[in-house]
Amino acid sequence: MKLSLSEISKNFPSNVGTKDANIFIHEITTDSRKKVNKGLFVPIVGDQFDGHDFIRDAINNGAIAGLWQEHKEVPTFIPNDFPLFFVKDTIEGLQKLAKFYLQKIKPVVIGITGSNGKTTTKDLVYSVLQKKYKTHKTQGNFNNHIGLPLTILSSPENTEVIILEMGMSNFGEISLLSELSNPDYAIITNIGESHIEFLGSRAGIAKAKLEITGGMKPNGKIIVDGDEPLLSSIEKGLSVIRCGFNTGNDLLISNVKFEDDHHCFLVNENQFELSLLGRHNVKNASYAIALAMELAVPMEDIKEGLEKIEVTGMRLERMIGKNGALIINDAYNSSPTSMKAAIDTVKDYHQYDRKVLVLGDMYELGPNEEELHRSVADVINKPITDVIAIGEKGKWIADEIRNREIPVHVYSFLRKEEALPFITEILSPEAVLLFKASRGAKLESLINELKQQ
Ligand code: ATP
Ligand code: MG
Repeated sequence: MKLSLSEISKNFPSNVGTKDANIFIHEITTDSRKKVNKGLFVPIVGDQFDGHDFIRDAINNGAIAGLWQEHKEVPTFIPNDFPLFFVKDTIEGLQKLAKFYLQKIKPVVIGITGSNGKTTTKDLVYSVLQKKYKTHKTQGNFNNHIGLPLTILSSPENTEVIILEMGMSNFGEISLLSELSNPDYAIITNIGESHIEFLGSRAGIAKAKLEITGGMKPNGKIIVDGDEPLLSSIEKGLSVIRCGFNTGNDLLISNVKFEDDHHCFLVNENQFELSLLGRHNVKNASYAIALAMELAVPMEDIKEGLEKIEVTGMRLERMIGKNGALIINDAYNSSPTSMKAAIDTVKDYHQYDRKVLVLGDMYELGPNEEELHRSVADVINKPITDVIAIGEKGKWIADEIRNREIPVHVYSFLRKEEALPFITEILSPEAVLLFKASRGAKLESLINELKQQ
């Protein structure tokens, strides 16, 4: 990216004199430890640390200017002519700068929210759009009030399309991200139960996701899960494209088949292939198809983009483990909806006789957490052979399976370490194992242990 100090001073009071006005910033950084080239340091005031205390390191690592919170004393070792921009709040300053930069480079802006599938959909959209456009996307999971402006500010000046993942845990957060970035297109991937603790109900969750319409450009279009009744009433005169499996959707997914480790399906009359697992990912792909068609990407390029998709790690990531067992790592995060979706994926693996689920705790589910864990038993049936529940909350899943007398082998362990020898025994060429739990459970540590054996 490139922003001159004089452009930045249009936004904030500063000590930048005319001699420095034409110096260009190439990178924005909030991390004083990171080496940067011609960086602008944005100190963030956190609960434990105050970024302002690290300005010396930031300068040593390549910062040539900085934002600075008003009324905070500027240390004496900083030369008088070191360019500083004064703001009430550095995070708000960062957001203002991101908005300014977007207005300067004017890309098509795509905002992606939803309870599950944002990162995957972002990767799918990127894969189909980069064929035709200079496309920039959120790296990893940088989807909040700091990550999103940093994503914007890391995009090259010639970016034609920018894809922004928008995450949230409470009301007002998506509004802010939408007002900041003014999307031309928005996608709502699904409505699940994540963060129900703060949002009260699924209707509350839908309302919070729909905040994305608040900052959209007047002729913006929104692409949604058309199978979700809570998304059926979208006002404000926006055009809506509904995608899903139910008849009546604008983009109708049909004939879904899982063959040789990939999905084949139709969207309206067009045939696609997707190398990702899970029916939910077929739906995520349909959002990318809808958007690519809107942006006039040729059908052949859309198809190829989906076939060659590369997704961010630990989302139904497959690997061959000890003794040839297939390990599916979906341990990145979990909610009841995404756990059920992942379990359905395992059922498609007809070539493996033993289908094993290693399921752990799910956090932030509020007062109904026990019921929500128990509801996972709704999808545990025949092709699944074994369920290994881990943790105090995971145990509810095991208890419910036993209560309902579902014919699978069920085991529970309070700690991951206790489960390890047991899981090791199961590994064989006939076994497929899915690992899934909330981020906090860090279930991937089990997979790492298994890999080392
Ligand atoms: P986060 O809120 O943590 O950023 P995310 O919304 O970015 O999550 P992903 O990381 O793409 O979601 O996927 C997380 C998991 O959600 C996947 O591994 C998968 O099990 C599940 N998932 C993905 N898409 C859907 C969907 N459309 N419906 C239900 N579950 C889904
Ligand atoms: Mg994500």
